[in-house]
Amino acid sequence: MKRIEDYIIAVPDFPKPGVLFRDITGILSDPDGLKLTLDTFYKTLENVDFDVVVGLEARGFLFGVPIAEHFHKPFVPERKKGKLPRETVEITYNLEYGTACMEVHKDAIKPGQRVVIVDDLLATGGTAKAAAHLVEKMGGKVECFAFVIELADLKGSEVLDGYRVESLTKF
Ligand code: 5GP
Repeated sequence: MKRIEDYIIAVPDFPKPGVLFRDITGILSDPDGLKLTLDTFYKTLENVDFDVVVGLEARGFLFGVPIAEHFHKPFVPERKKGKLPRETVEITYNLEYGTACMEVHKDAIKPGQRVVIVDDLLATGGTAKAAAHLVEKMGGKVECFAFVIELADLKGSEVLDGYRVESLTKF
């Protein structure tokens, strides 16, 4: 039987030389791979009490939406600045070079709501940590992070110390 990692394609030198990119389109293009991945997410999150799913642009949407549908919870997209049409709350965070800004609709997360943050991959943890801070800025509580892939060498889970982190596969 195939495992989730068998559907992930390793692409050398993308997006720049020396980087081994983990391509999750191999999961999406195979209905068995997608079903296995989603079923594993459902099982992993079965015992997590939460109110809202936040998906991180863009690959976090692909898995976040079906998770929200499965558990009958609202889905909230967190997007790069300037993409959402209504009033937003934003967070600016540091990247390797420069900064990035992400935002969610202001009415999307209510104080006290428990949130699961979904993305395809945890690398250094910078993106995920900023997403948590945005949720907390809105009065929400991060109940759990859910990733398809964790790049263990980059120690992103240490950056997310204190939060529950669920990764379906590790490389
Ligand atoms: P971090 O902020 O943890 O360093 O990077 C995580 C973010 O970068 C995620 O939003 C993820 O989509 C993207 N990312 C970084 N490296 C890869 C990769 O090898 N494969 C995929 N699919 N996404 C990556």
